[in-house]
Amino acid sequence: MSPGNVWRDLRPEGPAEEFWRSYTLPRRGEYAGLCNNPLCPTTGADWLNRVNDRYYCDDCARWINEACLKQGIRKHCELHVEHHF
Ligand SMILES: [Zn+2]
Repeated sequence: MSPGNVWRDLRPEGPAEEFWRSYTLPRRGEYAGLCNNPLCPTTGADWLNRVNDRYYCDDCARWINEACLKQGIRKHCELHVEHHF
C-alpha cells in the first residue's frame, strides 16, 4: 500500500456532509458556543458582554472585566443566568 492511498481517503466530503458538520459546530459568540474572542478556541461560552451582546469564556470575560476595572468603568461581562424571574 502506497502512502498516496491514505490521503485519497481524506478527500473532502460532499456538500451535505459539510453542511451538517458546520451546522452542529458551536457558533462563535453565541451562548454555550465558541468564545467571541477570535483567538480563543474555548467552547461553552457563558459570560455575556453587555456592550456587544456576545458571549465569552471564563478567562476572556475575566480579562475584559479586569480591563474595565483598570479604566474605572463598570464591568462589561456578566455570567449568563438561565432563569428569568
Ligand atoms: Zn475565550
